[in-house]
Amino acid sequence: MSESPDRDSASRRPAPRCEPGDLPAVALGSVDYGRIERAVREILIAVGEDPDREGLVETPARVARMYAEMFAGLKLDPREHTRKFFTEEYDEVVLVRDISFCSMCEHHLLPFIGQAHVAYIPDGRVIGLSKIARVVEVISRRPQVQERMTEEIANLLIEDLGCKGVAVVIEASHSCMTIRGVKKPGSSMVTSAMKGIFRSNLSTRSEVMQLIYGNRK
Ligand SMILES: [Zn+2]
Repeated sequence: MSESPDRDSASRRPAPRCEPGDLPAVALGSVDYGRIERAVREILIAVGEDPDREGLVETPARVARMYAEMFAGLKLDPREHTRKFFTEEYDEVVLVRDISFCSMCEHHLLPFIGQAHVAYIPDGRVIGLSKIARVVEVISRRPQVQERMTEEIANLLIEDLGCKGVAVVIEASHSCMTIRGVKKPGSSMVTSAMKGIFRSNLSTRSEVMQLIYGNRK
């Protein structure tokens, strides 16, 4: 069963967005802003810029605030969102599709932006769908690689929910690939992690892939 109430509107793929969300102040407050500011100033000097010219004066402070936000997940525990569940005798696929996220590639510190699709088959207990989106949010707001992010979300849910299976599919566009290096705008990367019954049972896996992609071009 898909979370989207309206399959027609769900089939129109939303443009990737990058929303700050309401990150807890504790995560934003534990960053050493001054240290980031000094480092950014050094980078500006190193590339041949004048960090004191008008347009750049506020840049180190701005970048520090941005990094605090982008890496806020380092200080947050995604398990906080999987503790609350409900007893429910539902044992079909629960899918949350198109969870938009913005993460930072740890190799270049450039953003990769995309959507996560997370499905699970409950075994007596379910969690709120927004909690799954929260887990994606926390895990994405760290220096990341997409493969590890996919695995981390799947492992956390299979461990914490005690469910029959978890499937995580992530599609993202990596700016380290689109704006530099091989410069291939429009390319995207797809990763998946299948746990439990989604791994062992081909028809269950096909069913979830059909739910994720079935009614899309
Ligand atoms: Zn990269």
